[in-house]
Amino acid sequence: MNNYVTEAINLKSYNLNDADKIIVMYSKENGLIKGVAKGIKKPKSKLGARMDLLVANTIQLLKGRSLDTIIQAQTINNFKKSREDFDKLMLSSYVSEIIINLGEGSENASEEIYSLLYKALNKIANSSNKKEMLIATIKFQLKILLIMGFCVELDSCLCCREQVLNENMYFSSKMGGIICEDCNEHLGVKLKMHYKIRDFLQAMLQFDFDFESDYDKKANEKVCQVCFNLLDEYIKTHTNKKQKSIKLIKENLA
Ligand SMILES: [Zn+2]
Repeated sequence: MNNYVTEAINLKSYNLNDADKIIVMYSKENGLIKGVAKGIKKPKSKLGARMDLLVANTIQLLKGRSLDTIIQAQTINNFKKSREDFDKLMLSSYVSEIIINLGEGSENASEEIYSLLYKALNKIANSSNKKEMLIATIKFQLKILLIMGFCVELDSCLCCREQVLNENMYFSSKMGGIICEDCNEHLGVKLKMHYKIRDFLQAMLQFDFDFESDYDKKANEKVCQVCFNLLDEYIKTHTNKKQKSIKLIKENLA
């Protein structure tokens, strides 16, 4: 088979020559893939805006010796509302950077990851306020970590393995979860976490992406921002890559 068809979301692009670009996409069937968009830099390109970043397409590719070529694309969703809103665009870029950084070697879970990425981009685009878009991003952060095997421990202390039932606990992004007050006397983790934040994160991790629980309704923007930062710290520690969009998000959502 020289041709194949897949659903894919455009994450990154770079120039190949004067006329062509290489598009990095996350595909439903094969995880991270690259394809050449021929003539995309010419005014009359037939692929046109379909090759813009953060567009989901059904694409047809022609297998090549080293690079595949995109021969057809039909847009499923261009997440239009994220193109007109700075915060939405930043969070969408953030989500796509995580996929680029973690995506290699994720082929086995590509359907699950594609679906999570699609839902997150769609929810961010259709959010009516910052709280909603942050919640979508937090759900994405927690669920992508779970899929990739870096799940955050929110139930038991990472040190003594006892369930943490006290009001206060600490969060270690290095260790990847919570530490009880007793153990922290030796460890000295600085980031204190209230059990309500823990419970909120647990709910965000456990419930279906689309399910809107009481936790979603009760949370406020500030709590969401705290959770977002905490998870971002953890992701940074474990991917060793800086998210370019994070600085802008922190400056603008603060
Ligand atoms: Zn402990």
